[in-house]
Amino acid sequence: MTDTAQPTHTGFMHDIAVIGAGIVGVACALQLARQGLRVVLIDRLEPGLGASFGNAGHLATEQVFPIADSSILKRLPSMLLDPTGPLRLDWRYLPRALPWFIRLLLNLRQAPTQRSIAGLRKLNEGSLPAWQRLLASIDKPQLLRRQGSLLMIERRQSQPALRALQARMLSQGVTVAEWDAHAVRQAAPQLSPSIQGGLFFADTGHFIDPKLVVDALFEACTAAGVSFYKQQVNAAHITRLGVLLQTDEGALNVHKVLIACGAHSAHLTQTLTGQKVPLETERGYHLMLPHEHQRLPFPVTSFERKFIMTPMSSGLRLAGTVEFAGLDRPPQMKRAWQLLKLSQDLFARPLNESDASPWMGFRPSLPDSLPVMDCVCNGKVLLAFGHQHLGLTQAAYSAELMARLCSPNLMEQHQALLELKPYRLSRFNNQSAS
Ligand SMILES: Cc1cc2nc3c(=O)[nH]c(=O)nc-3n(C[C@H](O)[C@H](O)[C@H](O)COP(=O)(O)OP(=O)(O)OC[C@H]3O[C@@H](n4cnc5c(N)ncnc54)[C@H](O)[C@@H]3O)c2cc1C
Repeated sequence: MTDTAQPTHTGFMHDIAVIGAGIVGVACALQLARQGLRVVLIDRLEPGLGASFGNAGHLATEQVFPIADSSILKRLPSMLLDPTGPLRLDWRYLPRALPWFIRLLLNLRQAPTQRSIAGLRKLNEGSLPAWQRLLASIDKPQLLRRQGSLLMIERRQSQPALRALQARMLSQGVTVAEWDAHAVRQAAPQLSPSIQGGLFFADTGHFIDPKLVVDALFEACTAAGVSFYKQQVNAAHITRLGVLLQTDEGALNVHKVLIACGAHSAHLTQTLTGQKVPLETERGYHLMLPHEHQRLPFPVTSFERKFIMTPMSSGLRLAGTVEFAGLDRPPQMKRAWQLLKLSQDLFARPLNESDASPWMGFRPSLPDSLPVMDCVCNGKVLLAFGHQHLGLTQAAYSAELMARLCSPNLMEQHQALLELKPYRLSRFNNQSAS
């Protein structure tokens, strides 16, 4: 892409570099360009090939609880001993992940849990309207379907736990209705008759393909004058006038930088801010079934089997599982294929598995389940990463908040910073586990 930006008196071609062209980065780049800033978006890959490529496409506004709760402690041993279960730890990775797990455990206490819930609620409650505004503004409302989603149970014994979850969700303002087996069959007749019922979330939705959403936003970025550099950012330094980036193709001076590198954001953040951020990756998998259309009207999650099935324009996507194995170890694609086994019993008729394709991606997760969204280093460094299982859900609203941090109106900037208090980097200052 050609760069039409003109240098200013400082010689800088761009006001701000957004590093990372995942869903968070492209949404931020577009909103920043709409503020009148000259934006360059930088990614080592083409846009949307990180976690944003293969997620489950679920606008999961109902997920207002942190990634772990105390009940997981009881289930943990059996889950970890099952290599194809919903949760896997690569034991060789444990020493690296241990400090993060300790922080996760500390966050199971009541006060931090309540803070996380409040922070997640705020973002989730703003997410659906923000997506509707964003997609309407680029004339692509059809990328989002607002048909709700279902959490279903196969065993009657699961009902008390499901009802307890419903009660907790209702107490947090989530729109949720209990469905019996008949209601499930009416809405999703292709599911197995053995399904006993579930919880239906009307205020959720799904995207017909998460990669198409990134592509559409990237196209809008281009139209708004955003430049794209396919480069890897290796290092960065604060300078008197801004930030100097070292990429694999040379140096680039910008006034500000926004780090949106998903699970890979910790290194650049530490380089620029001096602060270590406890970012871990929860690796997740999908299996795409390209010949499966019209199976489900909306995303369906299995309460017992702990994975989701989302109808997409390119087929049915089976997705989920959490694996702790870091950013460097090769994927265990058998975990993606396991999703096929898990799903077969859930339908009245077997799924067509021909041409199925597996994928693995890195969810970016912080131990309190909240993202980092902040403006530090005298306004030169903006941070937007760590949206865990909810990056697609929260990207549009996060981008609105981040753009307000760069508003020409100082009151607006100040207000945005106040609203972002729960997500600030400084919450990790002076915490013992590093
Ligand atoms: C299996 C699975 C299912 C999921 N399902 C859902 C769901 O249904 N709903 C939902 O809301 N969320 C879901 N998620 C989570 C969601 O996908 C992520 O939270 C989200 O994609 C994160 O977006 P991002 O832009 O922060 O990161 P990414 O999409 O990972 O983008 C980061 C980008 O930064 C680039 N990058 C990194 N380092 C550098 C560097 N040094 N220089 C240049 N470029 C760099 C990468 O190449 C990448 O393109 C799921 C995730 C997984 C894995």
